[in-house]
Amino acid sequence: LASRTFKSEPTVIKIKDVEIGGNQLTLIGGPCAIESYEQMFEVAEKIKKSGAKILRGGAYKPRTCPYSFQGLEEEGLKILREAATRYDLLVITEVISEAAVDKTYEYVDIFQIGARNMQNFNLLKYVGRQNKPVLLKRGLAATIEEWLNAAEYILSEGNPNVILCERGIRTFETSTRNTLDISAIPVVKEKSHLPIIVDPSHAAGKAKYVPALSKAAIAAGADGLMIEVHPNPKQALSDGPQSITPEEFDRLVKEISQIAKSI
Ligand code: PEP
Ligand code: MN
Repeated sequence: LASRTFKSEPTVIKIKDVEIGGNQLTLIGGPCAIESYEQMFEVAEKIKKSGAKILRGGAYKPRTCPYSFQGLEEEGLKILREAATRYDLLVITEVISEAAVDKTYEYVDIFQIGARNMQNFNLLKYVGRQNKPVLLKRGLAATIEEWLNAAEYILSEGNPNVILCERGIRTFETSTRNTLDISAIPVVKEKSHLPIIVDPSHAAGKAKYVPALSKAAIAAGADGLMIEVHPNPKQALSDGPQSITPEEFDRLVKEISQIAKSI
């Protein structure tokens, strides 16, 4: 179902007045983790002004270390929804279990499946039975074939609205947190009709590399970007080193609009 041979024209996912795929370049911004009302309202207001359409923020964080901040859970979802509604943005958040899908359902427009859960097949089937779009991140060391098969698990349960997200893969290189696989964009475009967006933040691991990776992704044909934006990256409870400020986000959007489809 994910294949171009099944469906030749590109899938365009429409949520309210936002389109993902087709001729649109969709910008998603927001912090790694939801921390407070102040943080989310500030980010939402500023990224909206810059041209973002979707607000991100993690309420359930799949942290590598169990002692790291795990997220505000339902309290965070309320903050995320309020900030998004106030500034007319859509909401995306990660779900790490079936229980989190149920809790999250009323607050979100798009479910995010994180890299660590790309092959959590029961979770994939569960979001495949929901009537909301799913953003599926590429696994930490997944091939494109494995990733498209993971998408197939969602599609085969009846949910046609899957957005793929390249976020860097694990290689021998240690200068960046992950290696952004730019080749994945044209390969996915050839093999599949699904939209593909790029998360340069988790690929780079360092804020200073985010602009270059963003531009490369757009030049290679990505349908959008998901970028971690935090009003005060140094104080962030999660992924501060790779988060850019709202001001840096604004500058980046201005720069990429030179090479982008319409934002
Ligand atoms: C995230 O988006 O904050 C996240 C945890 O990303 P990934 O699943 O790509 O590591
Ligand atoms: Mn993160």
